[in-house]
Amino acid sequence: MIEQLIIDGQRAGASDGGTFEVCDPSTGGPLATVAKATKADVDRAVTAAHAALDSKAWGGAPPAERGRIMIRIAQSLRDRTEELATLESRDNGKPLKQARADVQVAARYFEFFAGIADKIMGNTIPLGPGFLDYTVREPIGVSAQIIPWNYPIQIGARGIAPAIAAGCTVVLKPAEDAPMTAIRLGELALECGLPPGVVNVLPGMGTEAGAALASHPDINQLTFTGSVSVGIAVAKMAADNVVPVVMELGGKSPNIVFDDADLDLAVQGVANAIFQNAGQTCSAGSRLLVQRKAHDALVARLADRAKGMRVGPGVSDPDMGPIISKKQLEMIEGYVKIGQREGAQVAVGGERPSGPDLGQGFFFQPTLLDRVSPDMRVAQEEIFGPVLAIIVFDEVEEAIAIANRSQYGLVAGVWTRDINKAMAVASRIKAGQVYINTYGAGGGVELPFGGYKKSGYGREKGLDSLASYTQIKNVCVKFA
Ligand code: NAD
Repeated sequence: MIEQLIIDGQRAGASDGGTFEVCDPSTGGPLATVAKATKADVDRAVTAAHAALDSKAWGGAPPAERGRIMIRIAQSLRDRTEELATLESRDNGKPLKQARADVQVAARYFEFFAGIADKIMGNTIPLGPGFLDYTVREPIGVSAQIIPWNYPIQIGARGIAPAIAAGCTVVLKPAEDAPMTAIRLGELALECGLPPGVVNVLPGMGTEAGAALASHPDINQLTFTGSVSVGIAVAKMAADNVVPVVMELGGKSPNIVFDDADLDLAVQGVANAIFQNAGQTCSAGSRLLVQRKAHDALVARLADRAKGMRVGPGVSDPDMGPIISKKQLEMIEGYVKIGQREGAQVAVGGERPSGPDLGQGFFFQPTLLDRVSPDMRVAQEEIFGPVLAIIVFDEVEEAIAIANRSQYGLVAGVWTRDINKAMAVASRIKAGQVYINTYGAGGGVELPFGGYKKSGYGREKGLDSLASYTQIKNVCVKFA
């Protein structure tokens, strides 16, 4: 069976009949054959998305109706948690429990934004006697969304939900490495009564469907989640058509642990922040900045934890699944070698594990790289794997300086029992989100998320994300 595109409410093959193979990273074998969208398919999807904007069923529907449909989508996702989680786990490799959590977060996006669909309000502006001036927040139009492979259903929902709550329509291009749940999400949305053309899903290649979408003259907005290099390329394409862009890019986020921290909490938080999804998370806490006195105890406990983790196929629900592809696996291995050459020491892991159920899957051990100094490549570049770079500091000022010595600024964690120190550090960290004595907030659907510096611009999640999907019209009335 070929997984199809979704255009104008219909499942469809690619215009030229082309397909591509999707691999199961837990086995290294084939998982599915998927229609490969072409430029012609992108044209059709963008046309359908515009028609939906102008339709009675969508553009002409009361905002509350959008909310009702979104509540049904949320429920449908919850009802199909096992089916969707298993599909996500096979496609991406993540452990089933993480995939289940991802489905819940996806449902939560629809639920959260359903509630705002009929509350997107403007202002009145006092101009004095004889005038009424008001603003209306209108949908920006067709939102093109290009997403990565690491959290397909979550990131798919994260972009679609605020866009359709605002009355926009969407053309979504999932990543070629893991497109399955995004396609299923599009199908479920239709089953829940979303009118044709409101959400179109175009699996395909980045350089073909992705580039055709980003450079399409008729899109009105672009939300891109992925690497910095591709982000720069698509932002340039969108700029040629004066299309505004939300850029959610990479990170090298620091977890800063002071010696007065609750180490029980910190061990758990630091380990989850790097090993969840095998480190393939934009907001992964991939740098540990630890105060000298706490170093030995913290690293020993992290090492115990890492050694105790079961690595295995996602659907066997291990502690950590495989890396998405052979190419990514080799890149991670390369980084560990680079770190060693730079003088870092592998405290735990650093290799491919062996085991009876690992077969030809793309597995890598949870890895701690100790004795990292702030300017090493492994401290500066996003590895996108389960590799924690451990850096020691002595003073608060030094920790802040090291944390900010990065081209990225997505997330940071601060671990201390001293609230004054925590607040002072949080205020000086250059990152879009700072967590104190925690890291992440169960998906963080409600919290604005996005980068400083090369981690991107614009905000997703939370009510702030609606700014990207609405445009403000000011109406000025003069009366006698
Ligand atoms: P990627 O940039 O290679 O691909 C992302 C998407 O862009 C895919 O759908 C791909 O097909 C598409 N694409 C590739 N080339 C394209 C082109 N020339 N034109 C248009 N589209 C193109 O990223 P990836 O490897 O899939 O994901 C990993 C990266 O994503 C990491 O850097 C990670 O930090 C980042 N990421 C960021 C966030 C965030 O919210 N900030 C979330 C997840 C991942």
